Amino acid sequence: MKLLVTGGAGFIGSAGGRMAVGRGYQGVNVDALTYAACLDSLAGVAADPRYRFEHVDIRDRAALDRVFAEHRPDAVLHLAAESHVDRSIDAPAIFVETNVLGTCNLLDAARKHYIDSNRPDRFRFVHVSTDEVFGTLGEIGAFDENTAYDPRSPYSASKAASDHFARAWAETYGLPVIITNCSNNYGPYQFPEKLVPVAILNALQGRPIPVYGAGQNVRDWLYVDDHAAALLKVLGSGRKGDTYLIGGNSEARNIDLVRMICRALDVVRPSGRPYENLIEFVSDRPGHDFRYAIDATHIRQALGWGPTVSLAEGVARTVDWYLTNEAWWRPLLSRRGVGQRLGAA
Ligand code: NAD
Repeated sequence: MKLLVTGGAGFIGSAGGRMAVGRGYQGVNVDALTYAACLDSLAGVAADPRYRFEHVDIRDRAALDRVFAEHRPDAVLHLAAESHVDRSIDAPAIFVETNVLGTCNLLDAARKHYIDSNRPDRFRFVHVSTDEVFGTLGEIGAFDENTAYDPRSPYSASKAASDHFARAWAETYGLPVIITNCSNNYGPYQFPEKLVPVAILNALQGRPIPVYGAGQNVRDWLYVDDHAAALLKVLGSGRKGDTYLIGGNSEARNIDLVRMICRALDVVRPSGRPYENLIEFVSDRPGHDFRYAIDATHIRQALGWGPTVSLAEGVARTVDWYLTNEAWWRPLLSRRGVGQRLGAA
């Protein structure tokens, strides 16, 4: 099977790409190489003849048509996006351009390819989205496939819009679309602007570890390889037109997750005083959603998928990975915006 992956030089896309090539798929990675991209994340597969890279922006329709015509993929796994909520607060327009217009371009280029190929039965367009489109939960409850959309940040609004367009291409044009909405991911190769790598790398550098507000916000954390496995499962056996919510069943308050990271570091890289002492509470993110949680019953029952890595195990693995892969993350610290407070508005 030949897979066209967009955003394959990003965090989740590279995990999916490594797993897919490892499982024998041919993969074409379409990526514009924004500030968040890192081709080194694919170093392990770059020389594999089953892997190809296309330096293409999904906003460029003509380039997408050329890529589809040249590679003739059997399926699309669409991950390319602007993905950082804080950046969406400072500069929302690029989120509309890439996440909404770029997704429309890709959907339409895929539709043309699907029709030109005589609508093959096995063709799938998997649109990878987030649980943030559902807004915020109170202390109890969980999102499921019937939860109404209620996005509250420019990022989640742009992802919600892209989900609606993906459904529109399924209903209006008959494109075999599947949508996934996943909870917060963490693990190796995550760009050092998201909570987990920020906590690890600031601690290692003896710098304050910023925690927004009082650190009470709750997220449902999923180890990235579990997400990649879920996406491959959806590609292989997901029902066209269906939606699958993907979650880790591992809720944690931000402050508890950061403390867990600090304690893991205390064990493997003791510094003489607890890393927790570096935690610094900073002003909260505007409109910060209080809690997300996923009820993943549908994907478990329909496709037999469930998370395999516990939060404690995943954090330990992630801390170990950043300790042994400084050559990967060190150059990223000088990219624009990294290490700065963004989205304080
Ligand atoms: P990321 O920011 O690490 O990577 C995004 C990739 O997309 C980068 O390689 C970037 O160069 C590429 N890209 C950006 N704009 C592009 C454009 N116009 N054309 C082509 N490529 C472009 O993101 P991630 O964390 O890996 O997330 C991937 C997808 O999964 C996103 O759609 C995101 O909304 C979704 N998602 C992420 C999480 C999470 O916790 N990280 C959770 C659920 C869903």
